[in-house]
Order: sequence, then structure tokens, then C-alpha cells
Amino acid sequence: MQLDFLGNLQRTHTCGELRSQNAGETVTLMGWVNRRRDHGNLIFLDLRDRYGISQIVLDLEQSGEAHAKAEAARPEFVVAVVGKVRRRGEGLENPNMPTGEIEIVASELRLLSDAKTPPFSPAEGAIANEEVRLQYRFLDLRREEMQKNFLMRHNVTKAIRDNLSAQGFLEIETPMLTRSTPEGARDFLVPSRVHPGEFFALPQSPQIFKQILMISGFDKYFQIARCFRDEDLRADRQLEFTQIDLEMTFPHQETVFGVVENFVGAAFGAAGVTLGKNFPRMTYDEAVRLYGIDKPDLRLPAMVECAELFTAEQATVLRLAPGSPFVAIRIPGVGEISRKERDDVRALYPPKTVQSATVVDDFKRLEKSFPEAVAEIRKRTGAQDGDLLYLVGGATTISWDFEQGRSVDASGAKRLSVHQRTVYEMAGQIRLLLAQRFADRHKAFEKTGSAEDYKFLWVTDFPMYEWNEEARTWDAAHHPFTSPHEEDIKAGLLTSDKGAVRALAYDIVLNGMELGSGSIRISRQDVQAEIFRSLGMSDEEARARFGFFLTALEYGTPPHGGIALGLDRIVMILAGAQSLREVIAFPKTAKAIDVMVDAPATVSEAQWKELHLRPTVKN
Ligand code: ASP
Repeated sequence: MQLDFLGNLQRTHTCGELRSQNAGETVTLMGWVNRRRDHGNLIFLDLRDRYGISQIVLDLEQSGEAHAKAEAARPEFVVAVVGKVRRRGEGLENPNMPTGEIEIVASELRLLSDAKTPPFSPAEGAIANEEVRLQYRFLDLRREEMQKNFLMRHNVTKAIRDNLSAQGFLEIETPMLTRSTPEGARDFLVPSRVHPGEFFALPQSPQIFKQILMISGFDKYFQIARCFRDEDLRADRQLEFTQIDLEMTFPHQETVFGVVENFVGAAFGAAGVTLGKNFPRMTYDEAVRLYGIDKPDLRLPAMVECAELFTAEQATVLRLAPGSPFVAIRIPGVGEISRKERDDVRALYPPKTVQSATVVDDFKRLEKSFPEAVAEIRKRTGAQDGDLLYLVGGATTISWDFEQGRSVDASGAKRLSVHQRTVYEMAGQIRLLLAQRFADRHKAFEKTGSAEDYKFLWVTDFPMYEWNEEARTWDAAHHPFTSPHEEDIKAGLLTSDKGAVRALAYDIVLNGMELGSGSIRISRQDVQAEIFRSLGMSDEEARARFGFFLTALEYGTPPHGGIALGLDRIVMILAGAQSLREVIAFPKTAKAIDVMVDAPATVSEAQWKELHLRPTVKN
């Protein structure tokens, strides 16, 4: 086929731009052939670019040469058209197309590039096979939906940059080649050619650098930062992802919340959603008690405590562990569920719940035995006819062998015990299971197009330590630079009652998804050293890993704090997409590979040598 050169042709308009008021103008459009319809003397080409689609008419009588080229054109050919805009005839307008009032009568057509028959047409809406989409990502990204997603991603990112700049934040880049960072995932390592046997690590986050920037006096830092964590992938995880990372000096938690609510408002605004001011706040203990999870989905009601409605004897009949919480879950508007549906749900309980939870899923039966308690439960939960009610508690099989100590924080509040937490968490899992299983009946997850679709929440006062049942040790719940509450340090809880120590750590949650997390940091070298020690890290080990940082802390460190929010996830939610892969241009598959460039890949023996490495596996 004879292809043409662009020559001196210049695009005058995009394919989404022309309207009836342009009728009569001579224009030059360029783009991809979206569809081609051959009616003999008349050939129609739908020409597509990022901005839209315009209909081109090639009339044998008016321009034989252009018509002949259009005969050769096929979908995904790249062409340039010179022609005259004309109004479409009466009844021929296409109201579904922004350019549907007009068409362009071509006087010249240049075939700039031909195209093989693509494995799928970018003109199609949904393409089932994701592997093929990712392999031919260049075609996939031509699809309207993907073009929209990336336009939105750009707009959202720009709104965030502009907003944070206006709030006085400076964008500062931190290194990609660095050393192992403390987010707790596996590092990606990069062997050094120049220093045999030594490795750089790709950053899991800019954490230490942003703290050092505070020590350096930059006051307010942000970065749209790429982070790398070598984790097993799920639909909402990627090996590399982008976070909106920020840090500021002299903040209280509320200062950080204000900054974030401000830029999140701008980001959502860029996507056409006007959010209300001030997201609600809830402590971690409250979240677990009311929702059985640290990222509550507020679109459905909280759980309600009912344990004390049953006597010890009744609790035994119900096979409820003595002293266990017993919570009612209400899912509104589900209606009657059948025996089979109930069994189907049971089959989905997590294994731990099957072993250790008492679940009452037949409320009618319970009502026969305990009419008064059930009447009270209906009252407390505000249950209406047609609402689904479940009760979940710890089963007598649960072993309560671990005692937690005092577990009263410095404010005097009783912290949840590990046991209580376990039971609430099991209940929370069943709550979410029911919520998902019956989503088409309760409809609480359906978008209405208003700000009500987005239930934000700040979760605060996370525990500083997590009990590791297997190792029977207290582990850090966050990275080790997170500050405990000042009062909890002063009360000596770091050594006397780790389970009661509250971290000045917070998460921002949206519709049951964690959007980001952050903390007020430790700004004193002595406290930092104590925290390393209390995490079982020796002074030597801490020096070896974070010595440069401990040194920096000794040269005048302002109190500081910050947060990081997942940009990919925010865009995914705003785009209404089901997976991060819909909003990352070149993502990895669930098997952690890039199928388009075929990475990871083997490298030559010479490269191994150069890096002073030897493979232990043969490919
Ligand atoms: N470095 C943390 C993270 O990436 C965020 C923060 O503490 O600011 O999750």
C-alpha cells in the first residue's frame, strides 16, 4: 500500500471540536479510523482522537482520489483529512455525538500509517480479556474510557499540586536509588556495579527524606511520589504506586487533617464532586467496636453491643464465651432471605470465624427463645421490617489464654483487649460479607451522583503496638518514626503496658477503603532511640540502619508530622473503576509482570558479571 507523508499539512481542529457554526469552513483533521462504512460511491470514516470523533464523508463524485484512499483505509489507520464542514441533512444528526450535527466532506485524504487488524477494537466499550488488553496496552489506551480516566488523573493531580502549592507546600524530589526504608514491606534491590556486593533499595516511601527536609527547615513539603513495595498483588495493589506524600513542621493532628481535607476537596472538585467540609473523626477503638475494622464503611449502620441482654445461663445456651462481646449487625432493606441464602453466606465465613465465633443468623428462631432480648435488640438497632439482623460473639471454643495487663491509656480510657478486638473483627467481617452479598438489595453502595456517595472518615489513636500471637511479642503497628501520645510516654506506658500505648497515627478512610495514613513523628532523639529499643531493635542495629537519621535528629529537629494518600486509589474511585490497572497507564498484572514489555526478564551473562552477581537458578 502506498502511504503518504504528512508534508506541510497542519491540523486545524481536533476530532471533537467542530459544531454546526463551523459549517462552511475548510478544516484539516488528523486521527485514527474508528469505523469505516462503505456505501459504494460514499464512504464514511469516523475519525477519532483524544478529543472525540468526527464523521468524514468521501464522495466518489467530488474527490475520486480521496475516495480511492478511503477504500484502502481500515480501522486504526492514521489519516489526515482536508475538507469542508457541512451540516448533516435533516434527520441525519447524531445527538449522541458532540460533533453529531456536522460532517466533513473530504477533498483530500492522506494515509499516514496503516494498521494490522487489531486483536480488539478500541472502538469497543468493554473488553473481557484483560491479559490481551495489557499486552496491547497501546490499543487499549486508545479507548474512550481509558482516555477519560487519564484526563481525570491529570486533572486531579494538577488540582492537588495547585492546592498544596497554594497552601504553601514545596514539591521536592527525593531519590529513587536509596537505602532500605522502614515501611515494613519487602524492598526492591538494585545491585551496585561500582560497589561490588552492595545494593541500593528503591524507596518504599520518601519517609526519612521528608522528615529530614523538615529538619532542613523546608516547613511544608509535598511530592507526588512513586513508591515501590515488593508485595503480593491484589486488585487494589501494585508493585509501584503513586502517593501524595506530605510533611509539615509544628503540626497537630488537626493541622494535617485540615491540609488534607482541603486538597482532597480540590481533587474531588476537579472530578466534578463537591464534598462537604470536615470529615468525621473516630478513634481506632471506636471504629473496631462499632464496625469491627479500622477502616469503617459508614454507608451501612454500625454494630450494636447486646451482650448484657443475655444472662450467663442464656449465654451458655448460645455457646457464647463468658465475657465476650455480642454484637448485632443490621443491614437495612435486604428483605427476607431464604434458608439457602443463609447457608451460602455461612459457606463464606473466614475459617477463623467458623472456629471461634458464635453467629446467630436466624433471628426468628432466636426470638422464640429470647423474646425480650430480641425486642430490645430491635429497639437498639432501630431495625425495621425487612432489615437483616445477625448477632456475632466469641464462641466458647475461643481461647482466652493471653492476658494483656492494665491496658488503660494515659487519658484513663480502657483500651480494647486483644480478645475483644478479635470478636469485633470477626463480627466486622461478617458485616462486610453481608453488605457485599446483598448489595443489590440494600443498594447502599449505589452511586447517586452526590457528595453522599463518599463517606470520609479520620481514624485516630491507633495502637502503637500490635500483639503478635505467634511470636508472642508486641510489634510496631506503624513505621518506627510514629510518635506515641505524649501523655502515654510520660505515664511510662511504653515499658509498663504496651497494649495501652496510643500512637499519634491516623488514617483517612473513604467508603471502607484506606486512602492514606500518617502520623505525628518522633522529633526527639532520646524518644526515637527508646522506641527502637522497645521494638526490639538494639542500639547498634538502629545505628546501622538509621544512623544518618538519628544523627540528623541531634541537630535541631522541629516537631513534625505528615501523611501519604494513594493517588492511584483516589483516581480509581473517582473514575468508578474496579481496579488500579484502569488508572495506571502501564500497570503490572496480578502475577506481578508487565505483559507489554515482558518484564521482569532475564539479562545477559555479561550484565550479571558486571554486577558481580551469579544466578543460582537457571531459566
Ligand atoms: N510513609 C507513610 C506511608 O507511606 C506515610 C506517612 O507516614 O506519612 O504509608
